[in-house]
Amino acid sequence: MSDAPRPPVPDLRASPWDLAVGPPPEKWDDWVEYDPEAWPERRERRYRCVPTICFNCEAACGLLAFVDVEKGEIAKFEGNPVHPGSRGRTCAKGPATINQVRDPERILAPLKRSGPRGSGKWVEVSWEDALADIGGRIRNALDEGRHDEVVYHVGRPGDDHFVNRMLQAWGVDGHNSHTNVCSASARLGYALWMGADRPSPDYSQTRFMLLLSAHLETGHYFNPQAQRIVEAKEAGARLAVIDTRLSNTASAADLWIATWPGTPAALLLRVARNLLATSRFDAAFVKRWVNWEDFLAARDPEGPKTFERFVEILKDLYDRYRPEFVHDECRIPAGSVERLADEIAAAGSRFSSHLWRNAASGNRGGWQVARCLMFLHALTGSIGVPGGVNPASWDKFVPRPSLNPPPGRRWNERIWPREYPLAHYEMSFLLPHLLRDQGSRIDVYFTRVYNPVWTNPDGVSWIEMLEDERRIGCHVALTPIWSETAQWADYVLPMGLGPERHDLMSQETHAGTWIGFRQPVLREFRRRRGEGVESTLGTNPGRVWEEAEFWIALTWKIDPDGSRGIRRYYESVRRPGTPVSLDEYYADIFGNGVPGLPEAAAREGLDPLGFMRRYGAFAVPYAGQRRYEKDGFPTPSRKLEFHSATLAEWGFAEQAVPAYERSQVHWSEIDLEAGERVLLPTFRLPTLIHTRSGNAKWLQEISHTNPLWVHPRDAEALELRNGGLARVSTRIGHFVIRVWVTEGIHPGVVACSHHVGRWRLHREIGGARLSSALVEVERRDGTFLFRQKEGIAPFESADPDTRRIGWKEPGVNQNLTFPVQADPVSGMHCWHQKVRVEPARPEDRYGDVFVDTRKSAEVYREWLATTRPAPGPGGLRRPLWLNRPLRPVDEAYRLGSGSDSVRGIGA
Ligand code: SF4
Repeated sequence: MSDAPRPPVPDLRASPWDLAVGPPPEKWDDWVEYDPEAWPERRERRYRCVPTICFNCEAACGLLAFVDVEKGEIAKFEGNPVHPGSRGRTCAKGPATINQVRDPERILAPLKRSGPRGSGKWVEVSWEDALADIGGRIRNALDEGRHDEVVYHVGRPGDDHFVNRMLQAWGVDGHNSHTNVCSASARLGYALWMGADRPSPDYSQTRFMLLLSAHLETGHYFNPQAQRIVEAKEAGARLAVIDTRLSNTASAADLWIATWPGTPAALLLRVARNLLATSRFDAAFVKRWVNWEDFLAARDPEGPKTFERFVEILKDLYDRYRPEFVHDECRIPAGSVERLADEIAAAGSRFSSHLWRNAASGNRGGWQVARCLMFLHALTGSIGVPGGVNPASWDKFVPRPSLNPPPGRRWNERIWPREYPLAHYEMSFLLPHLLRDQGSRIDVYFTRVYNPVWTNPDGVSWIEMLEDERRIGCHVALTPIWSETAQWADYVLPMGLGPERHDLMSQETHAGTWIGFRQPVLREFRRRRGEGVESTLGTNPGRVWEEAEFWIALTWKIDPDGSRGIRRYYESVRRPGTPVSLDEYYADIFGNGVPGLPEAAAREGLDPLGFMRRYGAFAVPYAGQRRYEKDGFPTPSRKLEFHSATLAEWGFAEQAVPAYERSQVHWSEIDLEAGERVLLPTFRLPTLIHTRSGNAKWLQEISHTNPLWVHPRDAEALELRNGGLARVSTRIGHFVIRVWVTEGIHPGVVACSHHVGRWRLHREIGGARLSSALVEVERRDGTFLFRQKEGIAPFESADPDTRRIGWKEPGVNQNLTFPVQADPVSGMHCWHQKVRVEPARPEDRYGDVFVDTRKSAEVYREWLATTRPAPGPGGLRRPLWLNRPLRPVDEAYRLGSGSDSVRGIGA
């Protein structure tokens, strides 16, 4: 090492644009770089840069595709420097899109099964034949009044309006999502407080950040928010993380508090008690914006109707959250919560936080974690102000076409069963149990970027449902790649990856609003070269289509002559009698639905669509913070609801205010001596994203397995060896996994990421070979034993890198062994499991998964018995003010309104 003074490091962050690696827009039409493959020869290559939007998570970061002008192919992806959310940066998954585009195992043509479901036998079909068959089935269902037998089940939407509008046009209540295996609990907690179902933290001006999730590495709006958290830290803000596991985020925190799973609500109430007891709260904000009068009317109707009385009752209500109780309850060192309270009190209204999945998604009552967290924001007045948290709806902008179908009139109990009136949202993961218990079926079932067999708990019950043609008439998997679920489809229709499709997105990444336009890159490249391109089919690889054009074509098959009143929403205004083109569709939205965009486009000599095709994003003029001063909050009281009359009226009076209840994995339920532990299965890996990165070789090389995190004390007590195998038993089965001994996990808890453990039934088809194991399945009387026959190994393909694969173990699909555990209020699946952990037995093999579906039905019924079904007040299925993704008319909210097509489960 030289002692010479180092040259000063330039401050690259003087402006976000300076740090961006992407070229500035004025150079996008002719960008020159040296060809890395020609090095050391300095051979120039010319590129045209086309913006699009990443589709490897919902953050909707801007990508810039570099199209090699000579070859007419995409060479690479970087960040789009003019995207207001991501500001030129991406995470590892953004650039890895090129792996997915070039994946040698891609599905390149529509497939129809030619043997029994799951047999792996497929034939190629034309798009026309697939459209005619599927469209005909839907048309018959609608003509025969079987609207509820058409269901679209989405994992990642990747768009803000297109399919919802289409389902509304079809007149079906058929939108099903993955929310209840992801974020339902946190969403409900937020919605009950402020009417918006998530926060939008304003990190730009914050002084203190509290994260109840691994937001720096895997947060919901991962890259856009992570970069703002880091900027805030560099500007002096402090960071605390509550996480049972030492995540990358926790390792970067000023304060890490590792709570026992299921107890963070108690910790947060301890902070509330501290703020109240020391009078370190914003009384003026609370008095003006919290519905304390409603609380007094419900809790103390005879007492004085004064704010002072409210504060007095609060202190009494939360008095039990004393240090000794909370430290014991949460299994944390004394003093840590007091430090947290001091930080929050010092930050005041510049206190920001985020909670997504993690602490809320694991346990019964998890939605109360969000309630308790928002309580702290109410006490500090840090809602809707600089440095605090905004209601997410302020920071997201969803434009729509000029002509929209009316709201539906139906209520589909396959998706919205009456047993879960406050569910947020569809009870998606219960579908196999609901169809069985209701005696109902679905005739046309679309799965779209959705892989329930692998992702959901109790995936084996999904296999049983998908195999049963009495339950599922026709399963259409819309997917760019194979998935476990697609193996049991009737049609596998290859849809474009992120740079091969149109979508419109906006996300609450910061205190601001923007829209991002995903566009098919090679189609736009060819358009700019002056080629008349009418369809994305033909510019994507093989016969890969894009969904928007597919849906328009399918809608025309459903209503070919327009007599059903559906087709009109997808008919060209410019050329009546023909389907609307996507140019016309988006020109309407950008020209008429986005304030400021036509003017911004005109300044550049462009029309609004031309502006979006050129830049890929637009910063919509921001309406600012403190918006409640004008309109209040979108809750029934227009105030922040500390006391939820909704909860009280719908049978949950004891939980109407922020509260803590012991969960299904409370430490008192765990017999450590008998080998029991809590399994924390909810964490992601930063470089993977559920089921869509299995074909990204760079990402798989970085992360490809999921060992069981075990604390050294537990390893010793359980006689587990680092690198050895353990059998982990749940109530419905077990899995066999490799052990990783680490101090990065709370003693008494074991943890396993759900991001790997992919498998396929057939050698050549059904899953990416660089990420999935070939398994055999032994079935006997409702039991399934999955055993890995072949792990990961090098293989021959068009990509020479597949011969260089150096990893072998693909991880374990632990979710298969989890019974469904639906929270009776939020409807969220409660992921945390009480398990028994032991060294693997002689008959065990790495990757074994055993499941008994008869037991899974038993556990489902146990949790079902804790629900408090509709009707609620006024004979309603659900409070009218509580939104739904595809909201029908108010009348459909009434039980017996005539739209019910199946009986309730318990009827
Ligand atoms: S955070 Fe990463 S995966 Fe998600 S949209 Fe941004 S670049 Fe893509």
